[in-house]
Amino acid sequence: MAQTPGDEEDDMQEIVGESLARRLVEWGVDTVFGLPGDGINGLMEGFRRQREKLNFVLVHHEEAAAFMATGYAKATGRIGVCCATSGPGAIHLLNGLYDAKLDHVPVLAITGMQETSVLGSHYQQEVHTPLLYQDVADAYNLMVTNPQQMPGVLDLAIRHALARRSVAHLSFPNDVQVAAAGEDPYRHVSPGEPPRSSPVVSQPAVPAEQRDLARAAEVLNAGTKIAMLVGVGARHARDEVLAVAEALGSPIVKTLPGKMVVPDDHPLTTGGLGLLGTKPSEELMEQCDTLLMVGTSFPYAKYLPSPGQARVVQIDIDASLVGLRLPVDAAITADAKVALGQLLPLLQHRTDRSFLTRYQREGDAWRADMASLEDAQRSPIAPQYLISCVDKAATSDAILTCDSGTIATWSARHWTIRGGREFYLSGNLATMAPGLPYAIAMQHAYPGRQVIAFVGDGGFAMLMAEFLTAVRHELPIKVIINNNNAYGQILWEQIVLGYPEYAVRHRQPEADFGAWARACGAHGAKVKDPKDLPGAIREALAHPGPALVDCDVNPNEPPMPGKVQYEQAKYFTEAFLRGQPNKMATLATVARDKINELRS
Ligand code: FAD
Repeated sequence: MAQTPGDEEDDMQEIVGESLARRLVEWGVDTVFGLPGDGINGLMEGFRRQREKLNFVLVHHEEAAAFMATGYAKATGRIGVCCATSGPGAIHLLNGLYDAKLDHVPVLAITGMQETSVLGSHYQQEVHTPLLYQDVADAYNLMVTNPQQMPGVLDLAIRHALARRSVAHLSFPNDVQVAAAGEDPYRHVSPGEPPRSSPVVSQPAVPAEQRDLARAAEVLNAGTKIAMLVGVGARHARDEVLAVAEALGSPIVKTLPGKMVVPDDHPLTTGGLGLLGTKPSEELMEQCDTLLMVGTSFPYAKYLPSPGQARVVQIDIDASLVGLRLPVDAAITADAKVALGQLLPLLQHRTDRSFLTRYQREGDAWRADMASLEDAQRSPIAPQYLISCVDKAATSDAILTCDSGTIATWSARHWTIRGGREFYLSGNLATMAPGLPYAIAMQHAYPGRQVIAFVGDGGFAMLMAEFLTAVRHELPIKVIINNNNAYGQILWEQIVLGYPEYAVRHRQPEADFGAWARACGAHGAKVKDPKDLPGAIREALAHPGPALVDCDVNPNEPPMPGKVQYEQAKYFTEAFLRGQPNKMATLATVARDKINELRS
């Protein structure tokens, strides 16, 4: 009789590695991102035995596996799971895990450990990962030393990660991984028993207290120039955010991760805030007398109203984060969607729309300025034109991921959220290189959607082997590389500090990542001429498999702040006087940007 997969395991003793995999499945986990190693052979055997229900996405670098778990959690709202071997593998996971911790998403990291019998003997790869992870795995962090602890500690780890929206970590010594599941190796000396646990969690959408709502309504109803600042914690509350803004006559400012909360072309929003934000949003924060913050922990307090300028209402699910950036007059600890729904009937509808209309006009002018920079005639290609081509050709429910760097500025200003579009980056860790692994994980989670990674050559080069992961897993991601052959963001930061750039441009030759894509067996193109760009983008997006467009862009295009401050202009000039290279090319670009804006 033909065997079906799994039959051969029926007569095999269940080991701890398998009980782990089985329990993950019972939690609804269907994917583990990771890379095997001799510290996790018992766990890999467990995953093998559950392979019908649990995908193992084999990557090329553990850092990418952690980014994938984080990206998966960001896009699906479910827990992301990654796995790495003991010592070096576990160390590689760290950066991606910090991304999860800082952006408040639940991730479970599973690592290996040396056999219990050799622990403490300076054995090969003996890195005490629970100690190493003490800071990052702040939800739960444990080395499992007795088979009896399973599955209770796995249930606890997952529940803690979900409840605290952060990282949980379990490390399994090699001998424990292959021990018989449920084995009871030691004599019991206490009346305690392992937790009798189950794979369930309750995550209610927490409502607000009536007295907090009443206080918030009093503050908001007394305001005359009201602004809203919404962050990614409100992404599930689009209708409520719009309804409250409409009632208050308040323009909506969005944080960068909160970009997808309301569409960019909606008349109630002035767009982003901060260095990558818009001029009207910045001015709005300077002028408002009342601020309603929802689901945000926006870090740049300089861009928020000055002390004493505005009364502040803040809604956040995490009581410990309310009042972190600004003193608040009314604090609401609750889910954004529920709290806004409760608040709405308590608000007086503002008939005076003058504050809103003023910023709507300014918002329109800003959008026209940005559109003027999407100049198809420029050679070298303007990065704004590159992302505008992606924006025009992408589907109405496309997901865009991006890296940290100037690409974040171009995405913030020229990737238009409309319909079901989404946008992700490493917000608070602001690390390089997550764009590609995020895209892989999100494409894995949503096979039918268009998923585009808009990355720089610097970030892409760090984890470019993962493009091969996409090819090997038949994930039709699209990668668009804004290739300036430089660490562009840092280049401009050095100049704005008043120093000439140093060691931020790569030497020649320039890379051809299109050739790398083709070498991986995917569609790959290199674009240097602006005339070829729209066609190349359309062709890549229409390609049925993974595709990459490597586009050479103008490295001297500055990501200008919404409002240039006197100090910034002064330091910029000083850097030029102190010997900034490429002066003429940069000045010519800045002058052309200005002329385009004046014409718009
Ligand atoms: P978070 O910091 O993640 O805060 C989300 C908040 O929502 C948390 O307090 C959380 O507790 C709360 N929350 C979660 N769920 C709920 C719920 N259900 N109900 C209520 N509350 C909830 N950002 C900008 O805004 N402007 C910039 O100019 C900018 N420049 C950047 C440049 C680069 C190169 C990079 C990489 C990042 C940049 N960022 C910028 C991102 C920035 O560092 C922060 O990550 C970001 O501003 C924080 O956004 P947030 O408040 O929406 O998200």
